[in-house]
Order: sequence, then C-alpha cells, then structure tokens
Amino acid sequence: MKLSKILGAVCFLFALSAWSATPPTVFIWVDATSAPRKIFHAKLRIPATAGDFTLYYPKWIPGEHAPDGPVIDLAGLKFTASGKTLKWRRDLLDGFTLHVDVPAGATEVEAELDFLSPATFEGGFSAGSSATDKMAVISWNQVLLYPKGWKSDDLTYIASLKLPAGWKYGTPLPIDSTGADNSEIKFKPASLSTLVDSPVITGEYLKVVKLADDPLTEMDIAADSAAALAPPQEVWDHYKNLVEQANKLFGAHHYRDYHFLLSLSDHVAHFGLEHHESDDSRIDERDLVDETGRKATASLLPHEYVHSWNGKYRRPADLATPDYQQPMQDDLLWVYEGLTNYLGTVLTARSGLHSPDQERDDLALTAAALDHTPGRAWRNLQDTADAASQLYFSPQAWHSWRRGTDFYDEDTLNWLWVDVIIRQQSKGAKSIDDFCHLFHGAPSTGPMVKPYTFDDVVSTLNQVVSYDWRGFWTERLTNHGPGAPLGGIEGSGWKLVYDETQSEMERGAEGSFHFVDGAFSIGLQLREDGTITDTIEGMPAALAGIGPGMKLIAVNGRHYSPEILREALKAGKGGSAPLELLVENTDYYKTYKLDYHGGERYPHLVRDDSKPDLLTEIYKAK
Ligand SMILES: [Zn+2]
Repeated sequence: MKLSKILGAVCFLFALSAWSATPPTVFIWVDATSAPRKIFHAKLRIPATAGDFTLYYPKWIPGEHAPDGPVIDLAGLKFTASGKTLKWRRDLLDGFTLHVDVPAGATEVEAELDFLSPATFEGGFSAGSSATDKMAVISWNQVLLYPKGWKSDDLTYIASLKLPAGWKYGTPLPIDSTGADNSEIKFKPASLSTLVDSPVITGEYLKVVKLADDPLTEMDIAADSAAALAPPQEVWDHYKNLVEQANKLFGAHHYRDYHFLLSLSDHVAHFGLEHHESDDSRIDERDLVDETGRKATASLLPHEYVHSWNGKYRRPADLATPDYQQPMQDDLLWVYEGLTNYLGTVLTARSGLHSPDQERDDLALTAAALDHTPGRAWRNLQDTADAASQLYFSPQAWHSWRRGTDFYDEDTLNWLWVDVIIRQQSKGAKSIDDFCHLFHGAPSTGPMVKPYTFDDVVSTLNQVVSYDWRGFWTERLTNHGPGAPLGGIEGSGWKLVYDETQSEMERGAEGSFHFVDGAFSIGLQLREDGTITDTIEGMPAALAGIGPGMKLIAVNGRHYSPEILREALKAGKGGSAPLELLVENTDYYKTYKLDYHGGERYPHLVRDDSKPDLLTEIYKAK
C-alpha cells in the first residue's frame, strides 16, 4: 500500500469519527408570507458528505400514530452545492427518502422546497387544511428534510420564520430575536425533535391569555375574526382551572412552559394534535363564543394537555422511535390515547368546562355507542390499537362493523373501571390520581421521554393497590363483549338507560357536527342532508336492507328532515304500521319498510342507589 493511500484512509477514518462524534447543525429559513395562498417556502443548509447523500422527509409523525407525513404536498425541490444544481432521485422502496448526488469536495447542500397546504377544505391530521386568509398553523415537519444517520434528538436546527405583515404568533419554541413588526423571527438552536414538537400559530387576530405563571402557561388563539376571540370571562376561568387541576392530578409537570395553540376557524381541519410543550387544537370559529359549540368541544384541550404527561413524557417504548423514519408500533395506544381520554373527561369536569351532569351525559353516549358496535364481536380492543395506523384513515361507512380507533372510547370506560377498582380496593383511600402521581409525576422536569411497557403499567397499578391487573387488562384487551364494558359505570353507582329525551350534550353534538343519531333506535346514522353514514348490523335499518352511502329522501311519504324523522319515530311508538323510508341508492329509489315501534331512544346515566356515588366524587375539583 502506498503511503498516500494509507494517509487517505487515515484521513477518511478521522473524518468518519469526527462526523459521528459531532451531529450536524442544519439551518432552516421558512417563508410563510404566502400563507393565505396556502404555499410555504423553505430553504435549508445541511452539512453533507460527497457521494449518495440521503435525506428524509418526516414520515411517522408523533401523535398521528401513522406514516402520514404529507410527502405528496412536497414540491419545488432543488438541491445545490456551491451554486451548482445537484441531481437527486427518490428511493424506489420508500417515497420519503431522497438520494442527492453530492460532488467531491462539497461539505454542505442547500435545499429549496415548497409545502403545498390544502387549497380547498381537506380533512386529515396536521396536514389537513391549516391556512386561511387570516391565520395559519406551521408544522415544521411539513417544511423540512433531515439527513440519514442521526437521531432526531441529536440533530440541531436553527430556524427562522417570516410571517405575513402584521400577523402575530405564538409558539413554545424558544425565540432568539424578532425583526421589526415580527417580520422575521429567529429561533434559538433546538434539536430536530424539539422543532417538530413546537408548531407556530400565527394570524391577524391572535389573542394571548395567560393561565398560570410558574411555569408560564398560556393560550395563543388565532381566529378568522376578532369577534371569535371574545367569549365570556368564565371560559378563561375554566381553562385556568384546567391547568391547576391537571397539575394537582399529576403532582408535577414536564415542560419548560406550555402553550395551548388554538385555531378558531371553519376552514382548518383536524381536531387536536399533542406536543410536549403545546398542543395544536382546532375548532370552529364560534366554538368559544357559542355555548353549544363550547360544550361540544370542551374536552379537546383537556385531552391534548394530558398528553404532555401521558404520551409525551411517558411514552410506550414502541412509539419512542429515534427518528421519523422508523415505524411506530401502536399496540399500547390503549394507554397512550385511552388513559388520556379518560383523564381528559375527568379534567373537563374538574375544571368546570362541563358540569357533572354534562360529563355524565357524554359518558352515557360513549357507553351507548360501544353498546351499538357489533364489530366488537370480531375485532377486539387490542386489534383496534394494533391496526390504528390504518384505522385512523377508515371511512365512517361501516364504522360500527369495521370498528375504528375505538380505544379512545372503550378505554374511557376501562380506565374508569380501573379508577373504581382502586377506590373500592383501597376503601376510598386511593384513586387514579395516585397512579398518575407514580407514573407521570415528580420530580418536575423539562421535556424528556420515559418509555414504558405493558409490564410497567401493571406494576405501577400494583404499587397503588394490589390486584390482578394483568388479568384485568388481558381480559379487557381480548374480550368480545357482548355489549360495552360497563363495569366502571356500574361500579361507580350509575346505570346506562335509554329514554325518549335527548340529552343537552347529544343535541349539542348533533348540531355542532351536523349529524342525526338514530343509532340507538333504528340503527341508522346520517348527516343532516340525509346521507347515511352508517347502519348498525342486526338493527332495523340494516335488517330492512339499508346500508351506508345511501341517502334518506322521505320518511312515511314526506320529504326528510331531521325533525320529520324524529316525529315519525315518536308517532310510531307502540303502533303496528312499519316505518317507511324512501332511500336513494346509486341513482335508484326504493322504499324500505322497517318493523320498528320503539320510538326515539337516547342514552342517559341514572343513579343506582344501592351503590356509593363514586362518579360524582371522581368529577369533583381537587
Ligand atoms: Zn390523543
């Protein structure tokens, strides 16, 4: 071997070891000044090595539990090194992987890209509609690439962001400096994990409401109008209570400060996405000022806030992946989402966002919906979690037979059951709050991830009270009913019943989400316009031959409206004449006769005086 070659090999090895010892720092400039046009421009400067240089577009987005990074909306890609345009090609086996041909001698690559935010209203997670004429939510994962070979915790990003003139903003991402009029915000260096975890909300109408001082906890609310930002004072009081009650529930926190990033718009999609130090939550424009919308969406912020502890700080080991490329495994979503959903309902009540009556009515709806999910007979709870990365994108049609991501609802009932067992076994001395203190609590820390397994959940429950928790959860995860798991409701001193009066919560949900719920009477769910979204196998509508996707045109010979359907159900109670539904199906019309005479049926919880009222105790502010 010639000396020069040996020297070359030594230098190469040295370069390799230096490379592995010092993770690169990436600069990113995002131009959001065209947000109302729904296009975002970004430039990145990425340290690179010569040859086949591999970059990733984020694929598995934390909190979305699926490989749904919006790569289809990545456009305008251009790579240069020292001013020269570079060739690139997408990986044939993975569309999120890009191979850039970097010339010898080049040490960095400049990348230009655009993110095309949906131009018309589209659902979906954070990649759904996110920008209007007056506001936008910027999710960093949508506007960046990252180099192969590093954990997202180890890569440093130095970001700057330009906003439309006059727009204000809120974000948990620490700020270094801002230009005049917030025209360019420069952020402090942050790991890629922190950057992706720290969206920016921005808008012409943006209100900041401080909820707590230490640590700073605030709402940063962007709306499509100034009027949407002026709800009654009690709204802010309830959210202040939420922060106080959550910190009492867990006994510690794991964020530097926390920002509720709330969008109020009829033109942005998705409901809520959790982050460690913030949440990206989106509701209709008037949902804070109108009481009905406020009640229908009240549990959203409690749910997303709980995730800072349950999901971000404590995270299933299978979801704690090193980057956004390695697949996540969703098998423990019954804790990640299920426990979060239960604690979210508890905090919604404890903060006053719902009265105890309203919270019970919501719980009755959850239980009744599961009681009318025949798909439980073939798909158990564990499989709804295992298949979550597909089920999140399943249509509403056949929901009750296919099942969806039911671990939210079914585990609200199951974790209530756990809370009730803890209270019973400890003779009232302990509760789920003790589990939360042990599992999620002290000491307070900044953002960090403490992974857990099924065994960790069981052993922490056993530290609270000794019980066959492994057997309990194994049964809960694998049983096939029949019916909803009602042990928690019944053990807490309440019974699920049906009567002819809709609760305020069910009426409000129908109004807010524009549907009509005939699930509990004739097994029919439809939109206000008559489009049938689901029929429940074994119930009168399905038995008569009606299926999802058809459209209800007339009821007993009269043009359909939600009121006409309700009146017909009411009038038919106890009679013998069939309920006649004229239905359109793929351009054909047919009248279906339903042998149903049970009237309207809506769920409620009523007190069982033979048992102590634990539910009211659970919902009481601490
Ligand atoms: Zn969640």
